[in-house]
Amino acid sequence: MKNSTKKFINKVLDIIFPKFCVICKRQDYLVCPDCLSLIEIMEYRYCPFCQRRVMSKEGKCKLHRYLKLDGLYFAASYNNIVVKTLIKKFKYQPFIKELSKPLSQLIIAHLHSIDNKIFLEDKENSLLLPVPIHKSKKRWRGFNQAEEIAKNLSICLGLPLKANNLQKIKKTKPQAYLKKSERIKNINGVFKIKNPPQIQGKRIFLVDDVFTTGSTMEECARVLKAAGAKKVWGIAIARELLN
Ligand SMILES: [Zn+2]
Ligand SMILES: [Zn+2]
Repeated sequence: MKNSTKKFINKVLDIIFPKFCVICKRQDYLVCPDCLSLIEIMEYRYCPFCQRRVMSKEGKCKLHRYLKLDGLYFAASYNNIVVKTLIKKFKYQPFIKELSKPLSQLIIAHLHSIDNKIFLEDKENSLLLPVPIHKSKKRWRGFNQAEEIAKNLSICLGLPLKANNLQKIKKTKPQAYLKKSERIKNINGVFKIKNPPQIQGKRIFLVDDVFTTGSTMEECARVLKAAGAKKVWGIAIARELLN
């Protein structure tokens, strides 16, 4: 379909089904500027495994250097009600897939507001990889939410995206309902790399929607490093802050 035709159809659709802010119902916006302004964008990086602020290019505190995930970028706190609502409306029925755009913009805003712009260096040896979901889950939702975010980041950051290399080969119980020790057990051995040479010597940016305890990303990082990845950094829209 030609771009002009697409634009015309979208205009007609906007008249028949006008857009309303998913938070406050204000017309003409998917998320209005007032609601977006309620989201506080993180201006620093924190160790993924505790909440110590990290200043150096090392993304972790000294205590957690032994873990595989090298660091984490996250745009906002998942405790923020606007962020939480947007992510839920994006991920759960009736799945507002278009929310991937404003949600990705939060990450871009975060990346530009921090000092250490590691994602801008050595782009030819870097890759974006979405945290995979099981194919049955993808069939149910129609898309992988992490992949939609990664697509936008790939365009905005100029980093190549490899959406199907890392795969989830086993179904797992939802991590949200499990204790930390159970989460590690639940996720162990569920990821597989389809094409290892593609990630050898590469710096990987793993993209996910929400970062909770980090057991999912840590397991992905373990598998990726075992296959030769040089560094593995996480990127998430939001992080659930520990108490
Ligand atoms: Zn609004
Ligand atoms: Zn730490």
